[in-house]
Amino acid sequence: MSLSEITSRLHKAETESGRPVGSTRLIAVSKVQPNERVEAVLQQGHRLFGENKVQEAAGKWPNFRERFDNVQLHLLGPLQTNKARQAIGLFDAIHSLDRPKLANTLARLAQETGDCPDLFVQVNTGEEPQKAGILPADADAFIAECRGMDLPVVGLMCIPPVNEEPSLHFALLAKIAARNGIDGLSMGMSADFEKAVSFGATHVRVGSAIFGARDYG
Ligand SMILES: *Cc1c(COP(=O)(O)O)cnc(C)c1O
Repeated sequence: MSLSEITSRLHKAETESGRPVGSTRLIAVSKVQPNERVEAVLQQGHRLFGENKVQEAAGKWPNFRERFDNVQLHLLGPLQTNKARQAIGLFDAIHSLDRPKLANTLARLAQETGDCPDLFVQVNTGEEPQKAGILPADADAFIAECRGMDLPVVGLMCIPPVNEEPSLHFALLAKIAARNGIDGLSMGMSADFEKAVSFGATHVRVGSAIFGARDYG
């Protein structure tokens, strides 16, 4: 696969879902990928990337940002509160707002710095004990709590359980977003981004289908 193939598949999925071409943002998930592969995608003009870890992003992106204009970086993985300040400095959006303690910390830092990345509330749609995210039953109250702190909640995010049909999870996330008046939907990865588009994804997070398999060596 390549960036151009994924982009055309994305546009085809948008058309088939009756959505405007280009209405879904493609986040190229560059975690663990060698710099040459990331650079190749930057050279092709892509500017929106996703990383899972603050430390890894801090090691990699300041240099790319010096060499390429208008890079946007989204944090997709869990965020510890003691890394929140660093995350605010690095990321344009955080997709893993998943608990009150983190919301409090981000609100305090936003007050202090006058700046806050766009926030996506992560919902644990599969109610998996090992997975981050607010439970579906608690989502409305948590979203209200975040809004009460003036946090810029622009979307919801989910990672469906592996080995489960993702459609039910995409539909559930879309339903929670709609009843809370939230527009952004971060859902869909390499294996299922077209399906996510048909359920209204505004942001798909595609890693291996663009860059190739990750080598955790
Ligand atoms: C790694 C990761 C992705 C990308 O996964 P692929 O299957 O390589 O497309 C998307 N979202 C999150 C949260 C991830 O951690």
